[in-house]
Amino acid sequence: MRKTLIIGCGGVASVTIHKCCQNSEIFEEIMIASRTKSKCDKLKAKLEGTTKTIIHTAQVDADNVKELVALMKDFQPEVVLNLALPYQDLKIMDACLEVGCHYIDTANYEPEDTAKFEYSWQWAYREKFEQAGLTAILGCGFDPGVTGVFSAYALKHEFDEINYIDILDCNGGDHGYPFATNFNPEINIREVSANGSYWENGHWVETKPMEIKREYDFAQVGKKDMYLLHHEELESLGLNIPGIKRIRFFMTFGESYLTHLKCLENVGMTSIEPIEYEGKQIIPLQFLKAVLPDPASLGPRTIGKTNIGCIFQGKKDGQDKTYYLYNVCDHQECYKEVGSQAVSYTTGVPAMIGTMLLLQGKWKKPGVYNVEEFNPDPFMEALNKWGLPWIEDHNPVLVD
Ligand code: NDP
Repeated sequence: MRKTLIIGCGGVASVTIHKCCQNSEIFEEIMIASRTKSKCDKLKAKLEGTTKTIIHTAQVDADNVKELVALMKDFQPEVVLNLALPYQDLKIMDACLEVGCHYIDTANYEPEDTAKFEYSWQWAYREKFEQAGLTAILGCGFDPGVTGVFSAYALKHEFDEINYIDILDCNGGDHGYPFATNFNPEINIREVSANGSYWENGHWVETKPMEIKREYDFAQVGKKDMYLLHHEELESLGLNIPGIKRIRFFMTFGESYLTHLKCLENVGMTSIEPIEYEGKQIIPLQFLKAVLPDPASLGPRTIGKTNIGCIFQGKKDGQDKTYYLYNVCDHQECYKEVGSQAVSYTTGVPAMIGTMLLLQGKWKKPGVYNVEEFNPDPFMEALNKWGLPWIEDHNPVLVD
């Protein structure tokens, strides 16, 4: 029996696990292991009887390599899919090396005490994975993830050279709360309150948070304000797409979200510096997470659509060319299918697909790789099959 260990049982993991259970031919046996075992048991109880996939559950602290190794030795998975938080990436990679398992995740490593994320820490594992004959696939959600696959696909089939990429992440969904985040609040707020940056002519150009704003008319969503953010795939695409001159990442935010965020920042609630409160050390951002709505609870109340994709500019047969690849995903349809909103869905489905391709041997090569370093074709085919169909536009409106 083919065995997959999935670590974490939050918003994204719940979608991935539903999708694995729809794909029991590949996911014959899975173990859901997370910090809170009751969440794993609840999901198992929901899915058992609807699938041929055999489901096990376990409690694990993914910050503890010994515990991870003991669990892996006992279950003997072929691959470990890390859907916990970015803080655990290196520990889980260490455990994979010790036991001899392939590795895949959706977000790059970030130290818990510093709001800084970059691939260098995980890329430093390249030789170790190569020597062990193991594959590690980094950043296999939507962005990063599908955005890298879209870039590889555009380069393979549409361009001789890509010079400009704009990644546009639009969430046109409405959950009815004045303020809530669509995925883990701590990770989300750390990301959007950091300085922005983009990659141009071989170096980073830094911006203040939310300094660069554009309006874009998104297909099936409408006009939205979007803001330039730093995002992890800029780092890998800057290296892996030859001839690239500039890559930017934009995400849409509504007025209410930004006003609340500014206020929370101004009063110190987004800080990750520990403070003393009633004799206890607390981290304001972690306390804020505890009082905000759980992203996993947004599913039933979120309406509207997401539209995420990449606009490419480059050359084909000596001619200038533009090309837009995107996916539109409906929050309520996702909820009907797997009980989650579209932000978790658009991340959870690609994580299942990447793991499937690894298990099938289509995306298997010893070392540590970002998704754009693999053949995009089987992934693109799987996106259409597993709920994230893509749309092409050969004459897109560009972002100035
Ligand atoms: P959640 O907070 O909903 O889920 C995280 C899960 O990990 C929870 O079940 C949590 O346990 C578990 N966990 C946390 N710490 C540990 C630990 N030390 N040991 C074991 N389990 C632990 O997050 P999301 O599902 O929203 O996000 C999951 C990942 O996906 C994150 O890394 C996020 O950055 C990434 N992501 C990637 C995107 C992409 O497009 N590439 C988009 C969105 C998210 P507990 O239930 O006890 O809290």
